[in-house]
Amino acid sequence: MFDIVIKNGILIDPESLTRTNGNIGMKNGKIASITKEEIHGVQEFDAYGKMVCPGFIDIHGHIDWDDYCGELSLRQGITTTVGGNCGLSPLDINAFFAAQEKQGFIVNQAELIGHSISLRAEVGATDPLVPATSEQLTRMEYLVEKAFEEGACGLSLGLAYAPGSSNAEIINLSKIAARYGRIVAVDTRMITGIDMYSLVEVISIARQTGARIQVSHLVYQYGTGVMNEALAVINRARADGLDIRFDSGMYTQWATHIGAVLFSEEYMELNGWKLEDILVITGKYNGERLTMDIYQELRTHYPHTAVVVFTGIEEEIYMALHHPYAMPSTDTGTYLPGEGHPQIAGSFPRYFKKMVAERYELTIMEAVRKATLLPAETLGFNTKGRLREGMDGDIVVFDMQTITDKADFGLPNAYPEGIDYVFLNGKLALAKGEIMDRQAGKAVRCTKPVYDYQI
Ligand SMILES: [Zn+2]
Repeated sequence: MFDIVIKNGILIDPESLTRTNGNIGMKNGKIASITKEEIHGVQEFDAYGKMVCPGFIDIHGHIDWDDYCGELSLRQGITTTVGGNCGLSPLDINAFFAAQEKQGFIVNQAELIGHSISLRAEVGATDPLVPATSEQLTRMEYLVEKAFEEGACGLSLGLAYAPGSSNAEIINLSKIAARYGRIVAVDTRMITGIDMYSLVEVISIARQTGARIQVSHLVYQYGTGVMNEALAVINRARADGLDIRFDSGMYTQWATHIGAVLFSEEYMELNGWKLEDILVITGKYNGERLTMDIYQELRTHYPHTAVVVFTGIEEEIYMALHHPYAMPSTDTGTYLPGEGHPQIAGSFPRYFKKMVAERYELTIMEAVRKATLLPAETLGFNTKGRLREGMDGDIVVFDMQTITDKADFGLPNAYPEGIDYVFLNGKLALAKGEIMDRQAGKAVRCTKPVYDYQI
């Protein structure tokens, strides 16, 4: 007798590249049986006509304990989220994981250690335009190494938030990531709207350090008419043997806080962003476009207010996610109900609807692979992203005919449709739109090298 049985589903396993009809039995948090034979469990769920695949892994998010945004991720079929992106993370990685091990969370959390905002602030390198001193850098090196010892799955750089970061900061910290076989996730600089130098800089990090690079939300950086060039740069680097991968959301408009240095008047002008291209998505001006008065008030008094920049070309989303090393991601963050960007509730259902059902850009197998096995391999999650006996019981059951996002600007938290069940570590977490368990998510610590470090 199993704890849970999922019956009669269309089982999609991206590792063996098989699609079969069958049943899955889960016991003690793991997948215990995959069979065509009739099996029984304490709880049984019928998945006739539905896709059954590993839970989605969101390689780029900022949930970091935000239960509300965690719930919106779970509702999309995400079972594991990677936090600490864009240079912003908790510093005490051990405490972060220990808390999750003790009390659980609504999804599994893995964590990066963030350089450009968090580590720099910790060591006193508070001016984003000024390089860290060598003493400050030595202290950051110690903290990065400590974070890897404690299970951080990589280092994140948010170079747009600290454009003064020195080459020594970037290279020395990335070398530690390479030595530990952990990824370096890079939110590239945004100096102009068509800035290819920022991508070439990322390639040079890989070349100089041997680190595996995950370029963050590629469409937000290069979906402005230069996606072809960006993909060509990445392909060329990969052909040279450099391990460059990337993720992207399903939107062209991207969100961050108004106090960031990239919204200084100088950067606004270099990027060609006009005030009316920018929508406020949190706080007292939620839903309004920027005017000079609002811009100045928010920058001066409310720098943490989130805004969305309307830029980019929709076709370039599909172009990017078509690439064999592209992974879908949300860039979700910490928001209050009614605030935020539709990416927090709609990303993964929109990915399946657009890329598979509407546009035939990807087969269902390839779409599942990019949302599960590819991020699992990239991050070294060896018990996730596969539908195989012994793997973690992280499973999503969805309807390929009806899966759709409902979120939009002004309605950022509208729930998607077509996700029937989500199982987390062998427990039922979501059933037909209802949250069944808020604590089934575990800490995902990385303890081994993810890849061989070669230079
Ligand atoms: Zn981000």
